[in-house]
Amino acid sequence: MVSRVIPVDDFDLVIFGGTGDLARRKILPGLFRRFMAGQMPASSRIIGAARSELDQDGYQKEVAKALEEFLPKDARPKDQVTAFLETLDYVAIDAMGEGGWDTLSKKLRPDVIRAFYFSVAPSLFGALAERLHGHACAGPSCRIVVEKPFGRDLASAKELNKTLRDHFDERQIYRIDHYLGKETVQNLMAVRFGNVLFEPLWNAQHVDHVQITVSESVGVDGRGAYYDKSGAMRDMVQNHLMQLLCLTAMEPPSRFDPDAVRDEKLKVIRALDPVDPDDIVRGQYTSPEKGKGYLEQVEDPNSRTESFIAMKIAVSNWRWAGVPFYLRTGKRLKARNSEIAIVFKEVPHSIFDQDEARHRNVLTIRLQPNEGMDLSVTIKEPGPGGMRLVDVPLDMSFAEALGPDAEDVPDAYERLIMDVIRGNQTLFMRGDEVEAAWAWTDPLIKGWTERGDRPVTYETGSTGPEEAAMLLHREGRRWREIKP
Ligand code: NAP
Repeated sequence: MVSRVIPVDDFDLVIFGGTGDLARRKILPGLFRRFMAGQMPASSRIIGAARSELDQDGYQKEVAKALEEFLPKDARPKDQVTAFLETLDYVAIDAMGEGGWDTLSKKLRPDVIRAFYFSVAPSLFGALAERLHGHACAGPSCRIVVEKPFGRDLASAKELNKTLRDHFDERQIYRIDHYLGKETVQNLMAVRFGNVLFEPLWNAQHVDHVQITVSESVGVDGRGAYYDKSGAMRDMVQNHLMQLLCLTAMEPPSRFDPDAVRDEKLKVIRALDPVDPDDIVRGQYTSPEKGKGYLEQVEDPNSRTESFIAMKIAVSNWRWAGVPFYLRTGKRLKARNSEIAIVFKEVPHSIFDQDEARHRNVLTIRLQPNEGMDLSVTIKEPGPGGMRLVDVPLDMSFAEALGPDAEDVPDAYERLIMDVIRGNQTLFMRGDEVEAAWAWTDPLIKGWTERGDRPVTYETGSTGPEEAAMLLHREGRRWREIKP
């Protein structure tokens, strides 16, 4: 299979926070990979902007170091790195000050696509937006990219939206949720809406339940102070898991266009019922190793912030009436493993007397590791001995199905940045989606805060608290294994 790389149009991309962790780890290596793939035109320019007093040469050296640190050696041929570094420039700018802006304005070219990546704290967004306009850097066709966290509740998300919309039109604002940039997440839409096979079964008549798992093996190490202010609900569920749920549950959009897709996702969020406190389990990891338990890694030894959450959610509409969506995410679990599993119902009547086991088709969309999908189907166990049934996976791993091309699949950041340049907002969250997600999340957080609920504990390396297992056991179901 030959992959097709369509170059984007010439662009100037300014990265505010161009010296920060996200820029060094994701944005710049991602741009380099697109440059290598021939998607980023050599005439395009990337301008780093931050307070540090660097010149163009100094910034190029910094970026060279970042590429060395975050890309394997064989993924950065010297001649390509040299050519990529030539596209880089730098301007020292304090978002809160006036210095540097005119220099930036002069560096920007008039007839190319212009994008500004706000890879800085959200408290600086307003100042950046104002100055971009004040110094004639931003016009009606430019784009801005903003990162999570997009607020910490409905009120702050509304305020942030207002700040951005005071200066930019919604069609200029690209709110990144990198989960949406994953190849398999988009494949979920391709599988659902590009085949006749699944969509007729994609409803309460045939689906028993849905499980969405995002499990991490790392803890909050080093980020305890930040994480403890948010917790798994704000950090993962309100954004990433919610987006996965929306793509799984949404109605077919009339077209694969940004607003048609986002309208359907919004309807899902609005159809979510409030969650009963008995359907939520929050946990904190413990560890036999000194200093490795959650409460030892955050500032407040009495913290009630959750590092794990599992919940049962109801999507109240015709398609999903009575089908539970079970979500779970947590840190320091058995393995790094993320997937969406559509668990279909059993056959209405088994004709195989000898078979006592329960068989169900499960469609699994694996987000990490080994992005791909598998569909478990029931077949006859080979050999003599009667009609015994066994479940086997029809596996489609991208690496196997697409061969070497799978290695060229852009990672989420690469794809999303190219989408910004192409002006395609399909994989970005719209302001009303973010607000609707917070409107659903806020009362849940308020509920456990007011009740003074304390998270239960779970052991590092486990699959989460026992209570989370019970959430499904009590209904005769079980979580899928978190496989290392
Ligand atoms: P970081 O490592 O602290 O970097 C912050 C960047 O902003 C630096 O380049 C810093 O450079 C610059 N900066 C700070 N104050 C500034 C000011 N007044 N004017 C201009 N530039 C200023 O942060 P980060 O981890 O890269 O995160 C950036 C944003 O992405 C945050 O909103 C974060 O929540 C979000 N995010 C990060 C990650 C991640 O993995 N890192 C993941 C998801 C979302 P100077 O000090 O030289 O000014």
